[in-house]
Amino acid sequence: MNPFTPKAELIWYSIPEVHREAILRNVWCGNCRTAVEIVDYTGKDVGRDIVLEGRCAVCGGRVARHVEAVRGKIAPK
Ligand SMILES: [Zn+2]
Repeated sequence: MNPFTPKAELIWYSIPEVHREAILRNVWCGNCRTAVEIVDYTGKDVGRDIVLEGRCAVCGGRVARHVEAVRGKIAPK
């Protein structure tokens, strides 16, 4: 199942794959107090950016990360 809203998907896949993988492995977890991998995530568009919401791969707690769109590559209204 596609975890992204249509607009969030466009923004997400405009980001180079290496950056996307780095983002998914570098999400702050308040429980672990360190950067962790996000799992079971969904992505929704917020203005020109997206927010990933999911769970910490280590403790299972809820984590989220704001991801900035690549400026200039896509210009949603
Ligand atoms: Zn955690």
